[in-house]
Amino acid sequence: MIELERIVGAQHVQRDAIVGDRVLTGRAAALVQPGSADEVAAVVAWCYAHDVAMVPLGGGTGLAGGAAPLSEDAVAIALDRLRSVRSFDPALWRMEAEAGVTTATIARLARENGLLFPPDPGAPEDSHLGGTIATNAGGPHAFKYGVTGDWVTGIEAVLAPGELVRFGGPLRKDVAGYDLGALLTGSEGTLGIVTAAWLRFVPAPEAQRAVVASYPDATAAAAAVARVLVSGVVPAALEYFDAQTMRIAGDTFPGGPLRGFVVLAEADGSAAEADRVSEELVEALSEGTARVWTSATRPLWRWRDGVSLAVAAARGAKLSEDIVVPVDRLAEAIDATVAIGKRHELEGCSWGHAGDGNVHATFLLDPDDRGQRARAEAAAAEVFELALQLGGSVTGEHGIGIAKAGWLSRQWAPGALAAHRAAKSALDPRGLFNPGKKEP
Ligand SMILES: Cc1cc2nc3c(=O)[nH]c(=O)nc-3n(C[C@H](O)[C@H](O)[C@H](O)COP(=O)(O)OP(=O)(O)OC[C@H]3O[C@@H](n4cnc5c(N)ncnc54)[C@H](O)[C@@H]3O)c2cc1C
Repeated sequence: MIELERIVGAQHVQRDAIVGDRVLTGRAAALVQPGSADEVAAVVAWCYAHDVAMVPLGGGTGLAGGAAPLSEDAVAIALDRLRSVRSFDPALWRMEAEAGVTTATIARLARENGLLFPPDPGAPEDSHLGGTIATNAGGPHAFKYGVTGDWVTGIEAVLAPGELVRFGGPLRKDVAGYDLGALLTGSEGTLGIVTAAWLRFVPAPEAQRAVVASYPDATAAAAAVARVLVSGVVPAALEYFDAQTMRIAGDTFPGGPLRGFVVLAEADGSAAEADRVSEELVEALSEGTARVWTSATRPLWRWRDGVSLAVAAARGAKLSEDIVVPVDRLAEAIDATVAIGKRHELEGCSWGHAGDGNVHATFLLDPDDRGQRARAEAAAAEVFELALQLGGSVTGEHGIGIAKAGWLSRQWAPGALAAHRAAKSALDPRGLFNPGKKEP
């Protein structure tokens, strides 16, 4: 421990710390806050030499327990002192930023310079670039623009046994080697520690228009989503909120209370393009509903950001998962979530990224009722099983972490799993990077 204090300074080492994310915390032998990528490398080298497990920490907004240590001997390595934007070239649409820069800072800098950084996971003021890369986070605009990894052209990381390396850089193309930067992206801190990344941007769209429609049920809404896809227009976002979610959160809907099964689409582009796309969206969404209308986007996204909190507040707590299914199985996944909840005597609901088939399957809980939590966990296991039956995945956004421990081996065939394990043991032969995550 004294050696760690020598590397980062005694004031940046806290012994016996509780660390973690929004769903789970755990005790670590120490919380270490390096002040540079070289210090991260030195800390990793010390841990590797002493067989000490390491848990990287970003903003702690993760929803899978990925940042919670599983052993009290582990050292938690926080990246929050690595917060410099090393370079920003708006004219070249690119930036090099350190792992501790918040997602909101990157999006703001881009916006102020007429650019767009599309990944928009829901806690941008707190989440860090490193954590957002480590979870390959998405968000509503992933439908048109893709997930975080699609905007990363290079990664600087510390690998075992304490080597500071760089894959890619400020290049828009590079196929020289295996795409090891992509391997680190979404690896939940199990292969190494991201210290910085090169990002690319696009010019910000001039205009956005939202289109909202309300349907009687999931089947009608999913048919509307399918018509949008067939229409050939590409909305920037294509979201849904089921009827139960709207019963809870619909009172504060911008423009007045709203009920039913709601689909929200966004058109963007030049003003003329946004108008054209929104008109086509209105047409595609109008069948099967008495009401479809256009609206300003900003109040809608503000309302959408509060949906999760409103649902949690309804009973005091909730258990929420993030399965993803092929988009043509969306209605089945949504209806089954409610049915699974009923079987476990729980109120179930869901909302999510309809265009991506990403369902935030949720069960409402009374925080003081332990029986309910146990039933919700059983219900969540059924939701994961459902995702697999429908040809989907147990996680589309939040990662495996601890919350879904064991499910990767259910989802992947033995051959694929063996390749996954080979990648882990090649990059982390002693299994010291975030042990127990991804695969127990
Ligand atoms: C209100 C809310 C809304 C959200 N909405 C979305 C959404 O729409 N889409 C979506 O995809 N996600 C969403 N998320 C979850 C998402 O995973 C996180 O918000 C975020 O992107 C994770 O970043 P973080 O810095 O907080 O990571 P943390 O929670 O600190 O860590 C997440 C994981 O990454 C690892 N890690 C952290 N930093 C590094 C690093 N530098 N190098 C290696 N590994 C590291 C950790 O060990 C952990 O396993 C939401 C979360 C909240 C609270």
